[in-house]
Amino acid sequence: MQAINHAATALVLKRKFPSAPLFGLILATEAVEYLWVGLNVIGIEHTIINEEMRSVADVHLVHMPFSHSIATSALIAVLVGLFVVWRGGRAATAAALAISLGVLSHVVLDVSVHAPDIAIAPFLGGRYGTGLYSNLPLQALALETLWGVVCWWIYRGGWRLLGLMLVLGVASIPLYSVAISVGESLLGGQSTVFALVILVQMITTSGLVWLFARDKQKPVPIANPVAA
Ligand SMILES: [Zn+2]
Repeated sequence: MQAINHAATALVLKRKFPSAPLFGLILATEAVEYLWVGLNVIGIEHTIINEEMRSVADVHLVHMPFSHSIATSALIAVLVGLFVVWRGGRAATAAALAISLGVLSHVVLDVSVHAPDIAIAPFLGGRYGTGLYSNLPLQALALETLWGVVCWWIYRGGWRLLGLMLVLGVASIPLYSVAISVGESLLGGQSTVFALVILVQMITTSGLVWLFARDKQKPVPIANPVAA
């Protein structure tokens, strides 16, 4: 799932847990992806990209048992939550829970669109994923963009934030459409370059979501009968 739509989950968590810092929540929703970038760059996890990359269906996340298994995600979520409580004390319990949920949300959302490439635990057989990315990539993009918009709506975000989500969704169509080649020379076969492109995308998106989430929809003013 795209960085913007993972980050959108942080908006819902911020709405439900106002004491949690929004930027921390955004980072939490992407925590396992940052780990995935690092593990790909040093060669512990592997991605295979077809020489001609036409869509996300040509990206094969063949080995990511540490960053993207259900068990390791849950473990990271618990450890990060405990760290927040350790640093902030009992007053930070709600924020810690929100941040843990943010970390865990990543793998749940990935399963909803990925090819079956997510294991229950490292080295355990069986991979899970709905297969939308490999079979129906454009429908997957529509679904994940819809998730982002629903999160924005729950958060009652401003129009700039909605615009960002929709513009990034439309700009991603070449990556999700089999009809449009992303480019043989650009990313085809370059898994480390691909991981670094994802890193830049995550950092940029996180900053923009955090910035645009500051303006929220104004509450509808209630008419004052005394002043009327
Ligand atoms: Zn992921």
